[in-house]
Order: sequence, then C-alpha cells, then structure tokens
Amino acid sequence: MKQSPIVARTRQLLADHNLSLKKSLGQHFLVDQRVLERIIEAAELDSSTGVLEIGPGMGALTERLADRAGAVLAVEIDDRLIPILRELFSDRPHVTVVHGDALKVDLRELIKRHLGSARRFSVVANLPYYVTSPILMRLLEERLPLDRIVVMIQKEVAERILAGPGTKEYGSLSVAVRYFAEVSWICGVPRNCFVPRPQVDSAVIRLRLRREPAVSVRNEALFFRAVRAAFAQRRKTLANALSAAFFGGKRKEELGNLLTDIGIDPGRRGETLTLEEFGRLADALDRMIE
Ligand code: SAM
Repeated sequence: MKQSPIVARTRQLLADHNLSLKKSLGQHFLVDQRVLERIIEAAELDSSTGVLEIGPGMGALTERLADRAGAVLAVEIDDRLIPILRELFSDRPHVTVVHGDALKVDLRELIKRHLGSARRFSVVANLPYYVTSPILMRLLEERLPLDRIVVMIQKEVAERILAGPGTKEYGSLSVAVRYFAEVSWICGVPRNCFVPRPQVDSAVIRLRLRREPAVSVRNEALFFRAVRAAFAQRRKTLANALSAAFFGGKRKEELGNLLTDIGIDPGRRGETLTLEEFGRLADALDRMIE
C-alpha cells in the first residue's frame, strides 16, 4: 500500500511517543493515499474555504486540507495527540489545533475565531464511529454556517443516510439528514485502508447543505418528533405509532381521519413516508395539537 510521507512520519511519531491507540475513541487512522485524495476532491476546496476537521488523529488528512484550504481548524479530543499535531503543523500558521470534544466545544465560536476570514466553511473529517450520528446531527441542527460536509463514516450508517422510503435501511437519520442537505455517495472504503484495521467497512459521503430545509414545516421540533415516532415502532401502522407517541395510545380514530385528510393512508407504516409526506403530517399534527 502506498503511504504518504506524513503517514510514515506519524507512524514514527506514534512509536517515538510510545502511544497506544484508543479504540474507545475510534482511533483508526487512514493510511490509503488514494482515499485521502478522493476525500479532498469531494470537498471542493479552494483558498477561500475554511475547513473544520473533527478528529485529526495523526494529521494525515489535515495535511492535505492545509494544502488546499485557506484555513484549517482541527478539533481533537485526545490530549496526547495535541503536542504531536502542533509540532507537525508548526510551520503552517493557517492550521489551528484545538483540544476538545467536538460534541461539547462551542463550534460556532471556534469557527468565527479561527476561520473567520474564509468566505465559506466546510467540515471534512474521518469521523469516530462511536459518535457519528450525534456529531452529524449537531453540525446540522445548530445551523452552523456550513456549505459542505464531507465525512468518512461506517458504511452501514452511510447506507442508512442514503436509503429511501420503504427500505429497511430508511430511518429517522435518513430523513433528518436529507431535511438539511443533499447527500451523495462518494466512495466505499474497505477496512484494510486503516491502521489499526476496524471491524467494519467505511464510506465517504458528501452533504451539500440546503439554504432552506427540503420541506417547510410550521414546527420543526414537532416534525422531528413525528419522524422519530414513526420509526420507533416500525411494525405499527402510522396511526397506531402516532397515537402511542403523542396521545398515550388514545385518539386513534381522530388520527386516522387526519391522515386520510392529508392524503396518507392511516394503515401505512411510518417507514414508507417520504420527506414531503412527513412535512404534511407534522403540519397536520401541529394543527391538531394547537
Ligand atoms: N483524521 C484521522 C485520520 O483520518 O486518520 C483520524 C480519524 S480517527 C477515525 C477519529 C479521530 O477522532 C481520532 O483521532 C479520535 O481521537 C478523535 N475523536 C474521537 N472522539 C472525538 C470527539 N468527540 N471530538 C473530537 N475528536 C474525537
């Protein structure tokens, strides 16, 4: 396998610092140069782009981001890696390494402080598996000023995000991500592209964030509640699942009529609804609850 100089260098650094990798932090480092290039290509970077990288690890991706982007902000949770990363990028003043948990740090403030001069912002990351969905949802729900998100994630999660109605992979994550973004599959990445090798394969996906959500709803929180309710009990009909989630098992008939009124068969299962149908449903529920 072809290795970039930084991979060889960081491997050496790992040995020099006698660091053992923490699987609990999802520390599987990418060592395939072609995959690194695909990620960079998919990110469509230029010197006016500021990039937030979550989990730089040993800096293999960070280095390529630094070559293309106007500024790079890398947030890493493992304090042992911070001095190594700072040393690696000591001669690249447009790279900032911040120690912190990407789920907790104030990302808006960090982006403003360290990437403020950029014209547009992207997230590019090889995400740790154990927090993929919470990190993605945080990036989307906080409405950070992002243009693109290019992430490597577990292949099954990528398939779930891209799945359509009526398939077994389709779920609340598919609906939530597509509410905020247009998603595309970039490439599959076999497990042997990482050190240490994980138990699962990965994939790279790209999210182009929409200026406005894919459907316009009266009450966004209720929209997400309805989506979660519809998928929580996949075997139940929609009317039953909504009645259980919203009315303690009551008002089924009323819900049935409401669904019929908006052109959705109450006997359907939630997992067959399109994004647009979920939007219609959320607005009708909002009127019913008012
Ligand atoms: N970017 C590197 C690469 O591509 O080789 C490393 C990717 S590795 C899959 C995930 C990295 O995220 C690790 O360095 C890990 O320490 C870091 N990490 C795990 N949880 C994190 C969190 N909550 N916030 C920030 N970084 C995290």
